[in-house]
Amino acid sequence: MSFFLNESDRLKALPPYLFVEIDRAKRRAIDKGVKVIDFGVGDPDQATPNFILKAMAKAIKDSKTHHYPLDRGNAAFRQNVSLWVKKRFGVSFNPDTEILPLIGSKEGIAHLPLAFINPGDVVLVPDPCYPPYKSGTLFAGGQPYLMPLKEENGFLPDFEAVPADILKKAKIIFVNYPNNPTGAVATRSFYEKLIKWATQHKILVASDLAYSEVYFGKEKPLSIFEVPGAREVAIEFHSLSKTCNMTGWRVGFAVGREEAINALLRVKSNIDSGVFTAVQVTASEALKNSFGFSKKTNIMYRRRRDLLVAGLKELGFPVKPNQATFYVFTRLPGGQKDSTVFCKNLLESCGIVATPGVGFGGPGEGYVRFTLTVNEPEIREAIVRMRKVL
Ligand SMILES: *Cc1c(COP(=O)(O)O)cnc(C)c1O
Repeated sequence: MSFFLNESDRLKALPPYLFVEIDRAKRRAIDKGVKVIDFGVGDPDQATPNFILKAMAKAIKDSKTHHYPLDRGNAAFRQNVSLWVKKRFGVSFNPDTEILPLIGSKEGIAHLPLAFINPGDVVLVPDPCYPPYKSGTLFAGGQPYLMPLKEENGFLPDFEAVPADILKKAKIIFVNYPNNPTGAVATRSFYEKLIKWATQHKILVASDLAYSEVYFGKEKPLSIFEVPGAREVAIEFHSLSKTCNMTGWRVGFAVGREEAINALLRVKSNIDSGVFTAVQVTASEALKNSFGFSKKTNIMYRRRRDLLVAGLKELGFPVKPNQATFYVFTRLPGGQKDSTVFCKNLLESCGIVATPGVGFGGPGEGYVRFTLTVNEPEIREAIVRMRKVL
């Protein structure tokens, strides 16, 4: 790097990228000709379904979609978001004031702290977690305060344990259920307690609901807005990425109280210019058919889960089947503690990529995350390979 290009303190403050070694080992294995089975990426392996491609083919031919998007986004999309949320969670949001399209939910999540955090303010972040909660906070000059997620607490954060001096400076709390990386789901009573506590301490609850539609039990994952009182204190992030196999399209949305939506909109208006209108029109169509589509993909993920969990159990992993998300998160077999070493060995000896739990945060140490975005023959093959080595 040239001598005058000093990275900002903001950039330097970002936590180190812990998957570097795994990425390197993966490349080495591929170079050696190993047929790598990749349980690492949280990206659906299936294509975006045809009904969505057709909607895009139509939308893109309309030249009205070719211009800068309106700042609040496409009206039809917001209208359909409102209907979708109402149908799925039984809650109504005003499409003109309480709904905001996002360039993927990650974008909204990472930008939210810029709207509410002053230097020195605290953002309460679960640990392990999806990285943008931390990086978004650091970019805004805030301090992430990490709340450990422990298996014995169902991977729910004990927000009541946050010390009083931290609480005074806390402005936002991030929660994410169904959870990446643990696969955990939240109970209604968890949200009830959280809302009461957040109201009392004047903290904005930022709920990340990217996996609302990836579930296997009878009970559907809850939106925080299904619980009374949430409207006063919460904003929720939704995504079409996992629901409709649209990770590359970059489209999601936020719903919640008007002031929070407006503040986020003002941040965004000064940074990006919104989601490509043709993508919004397409997403709007996608939502109309999303429930039927999710039903099918969930059957597929469930079969993969059953196959992988059974195999891992047989190999000595103390694994419990996840009820939602496409993540199997388990302690290592034989009481092993070092997840980075474990994953490196797994790659070198079996050609299998999985993500070390510690990569998502300290309390993830001792765990490994397998994604269910791998087809059944490959899952079988992976179990065979591991059986030879473990
Ligand atoms: C995949 C994922 C998202 C969705 O990101 P997009 O930007 O909408 O693609 C959000 N939160 C979590 C925890 C995720 O795993």
